[in-house]
Amino acid sequence: MKRLRANTLKDHWDFLLHIGVTGGIAAGAFFALGFPPILTGLAIAGTLGIKFGLGPMISRAMHKAISEERSETDLNGNPRKHPLARKIEGWVEEFTRRLDLDQTPQSLFANKTHPVYGDKGLTGIFRNMLREEYNKKANAFAFKHEEHGSVVVNGPIARELDERELRGVVAHEVGHIAAGHHVKRDFLSYLSTPAILLTGLNAVVTTFSSWKNFGLFYAANVIGGIAGGLVKIGMGLDEEIPQEKEFLKNTKSVVRNLAIAGLSVAFGAPDMLLAQGLNYFTTKALSLSGKHYSRRKEFQADRIAAELTGDPGALSDGLHRIMDHYKRDNLDYKPQKMREDNMITKVFERIADIGKTHPNVYRRSEKLLGMNGAPFDIA
Ligand SMILES: [Zn+2]
Repeated sequence: MKRLRANTLKDHWDFLLHIGVTGGIAAGAFFALGFPPILTGLAIAGTLGIKFGLGPMISRAMHKAISEERSETDLNGNPRKHPLARKIEGWVEEFTRRLDLDQTPQSLFANKTHPVYGDKGLTGIFRNMLREEYNKKANAFAFKHEEHGSVVVNGPIARELDERELRGVVAHEVGHIAAGHHVKRDFLSYLSTPAILLTGLNAVVTTFSSWKNFGLFYAANVIGGIAGGLVKIGMGLDEEIPQEKEFLKNTKSVVRNLAIAGLSVAFGAPDMLLAQGLNYFTTKALSLSGKHYSRRKEFQADRIAAELTGDPGALSDGLHRIMDHYKRDNLDYKPQKMREDNMITKVFERIADIGKTHPNVYRRSEKLLGMNGAPFDIA
């Protein structure tokens, strides 16, 4: 059987492009502030702390949270092992061979809704929180753990999808690992995190550097809060509904930022205008570029999955089933519109995707189904 290639030239180009964009924005922030020694030092130290301290700690906790619950049903060949977990393991092994990976990703089946008793202490509480979080809605994901990656499939997705669809989803997750998406994301965050920390710290320092600046900041927050309250009452929004809560949050943030800009100009505080503006634009630009890359990665993992399974429709059907389940159970669901084939809707669809890590399901579906009978150059 022909070996599949996880990264095509286009995928390499996508990554290079995002290194350029991320690096450019980050450098722009440092140059705009003229590399202030203390804040630059703090930003770099903070980045290293997150990368080598917090990051691995969270990854370890995630792994432990799921692998421990796994050990309760599975003790090396124990017949109590969940049959689906065994099946997923088989798929992952098969995909690993096809992709010629050095290490087989570990496959984990997260299916515990109740806390693991005896998992005590602060980290135990955190792990139980993670277990609960993992089982809220149908989901599968991959994360980096030690040398090999781990593919996680949770209980709800296993109940919602049939075996063919689930195989497509598992192939997509293995695709993320094979493409090295975790390593690439880490690399990009080495560039973006220092810039975010630098402009954030600078904004805080500038805000607290004088009573005037602090007063402007405080007033802008009050204005944002009032605007949020008025919008909530005027439009009859309910903060229990995730989409409406997010809309309110965004409204408050926009008004607050406009108020900071307006007040800084009106009361003559250029330092405040620069610090808050730079922080806002740096964070926003990096977030949008990061999400753009994330959506490229999803398309790439979809393509790898289609090639691995030879059945692009399986993943496409699975995605639709997940979407229907989110809609039915009123989970954190962002409305996705069926695309109509004309330029205007195509443009709007892309605009609607801008703030999302995952592309519109219909777009993913269309790309996947377009692969039927049209094999890629996978030499
Ligand atoms: Zn994905």
